Amino acid sequence: MRADADNQLKERIRALARAHGFDSCHFSRPVVDAKFVARFREWLAGNYQGEMHWMAEDSRVARRMNPASMLEGVGTVLSLAMRYSPPAYSLAVAEAARSRGVIAAYAHGDDYHDVMKKRLKRLARALDETLGRHDQRVYVDTAPVLEHALAESSGLGWQGKHSLSIQRGTGSWFLLGEIFTTAGIEPDAPAPNHCGTCVACMDICPTRAIVAPYIVDARRCISYLTIEHRGVIPRELRPLIGNRVFGCDDCQLVCPWNRHAKRPEPDLLHPRGENVLPPLASLLALDEATFRQRFRKSPVRRTGRAGLVRNACIAAGNSGDLRLLEALAPLLEDDSALVRLHAAWAVGRLGRRAVEGMAEEAGEGNAADRALALLEACGKRETDDKALEEISLSIDYIRRI
Ligand code: SF4
Ligand code: SF4
Repeated sequence: MRADADNQLKERIRALARAHGFDSCHFSRPVVDAKFVARFREWLAGNYQGEMHWMAEDSRVARRMNPASMLEGVGTVLSLAMRYSPPAYSLAVAEAARSRGVIAAYAHGDDYHDVMKKRLKRLARALDETLGRHDQRVYVDTAPVLEHALAESSGLGWQGKHSLSIQRGTGSWFLLGEIFTTAGIEPDAPAPNHCGTCVACMDICPTRAIVAPYIVDARRCISYLTIEHRGVIPRELRPLIGNRVFGCDDCQLVCPWNRHAKRPEPDLLHPRGENVLPPLASLLALDEATFRQRFRKSPVRRTGRAGLVRNACIAAGNSGDLRLLEALAPLLEDDSALVRLHAAWAVGRLGRRAVEGMAEEAGEGNAADRALALLEACGKRETDDKALEEISLSIDYIRRI
């Protein structure tokens, strides 16, 4: 009898969650399984959090390990998934579009933090009627919550070796949110792990960021480097970033569990065509006003204009497309030293590409001369030490015998 009542309650809540735009809703106790505690400790011990220093702060680590500390008297965590559209292109197509930038699929439309938080809050209000007297809090990504651990414990999906959650039948193209409630609801059974012997995500990772199953070194991960990392991107990683300008979907694109993933109808993030493989020239041309206008309500705002243009410079340098030299030229005089530095790197790469192609194409000699002239001119004006060093390295790189 009790089990029937529990199931009915959970079904009512799941129906409410669906009505509020969530594709699945599962229940767990506010406890992080020991295996996830060990993974998180190993991650911190490796310093894999990069500049996300807050991740290693004692108080935040303690809260991550103990979800019960997030809300007094919490009895249940609801893990909720909201699906988004997988990329409409394959990995091969994305890589071949070298004069275009790749934006991670979740960022093709509106910022999920805003969309999901609004929906979680509405769902939480609706739960008040179903659960009666209870306290609750909603979380999306930014709070110290080990969301993939809770999702696995709740049966929503298992944590894949790339560290993201995967659902059988749906794949990994979804985002997670949580509602913590003081109500006691019967937990679901944990999700079994179906990665098996597969290591496709580890093998495909362009920067070898998945250093061990379930452990991603953020300092090498393109998602972190292109979004969270604020400064200069390490030189040795730039060629590996390819044409990814905001995030990276590679480990999800090769995952066999995503083979049959479908586009949700409707996609609540409203993906926009202009964010699907945008021409690099259009990104290099962004000024503050056009950046703000183009990426209004988009998660791409997070990088700021300088961060996105920095990423586009790297992609341009990797493109081999000599026509982008002229789009890079004004950026050598940009207000941001970060942009000037990465533009100098890109001009050096294209200049070298022109030198190497000279035997085949007469016009490429002109491009090499143009790249050198651009770098020499900006070297005379540059005042930032790091940018000056990059200019000098780029000139040497083009002239290398
Ligand atoms: S997002 Fe890209 S860089 Fe990061 S782990 Fe996955 S494949 Fe590697
Ligand atoms: S690619 Fe393979 S190992 Fe990686 S998450 Fe998917 S199933 Fe797991």
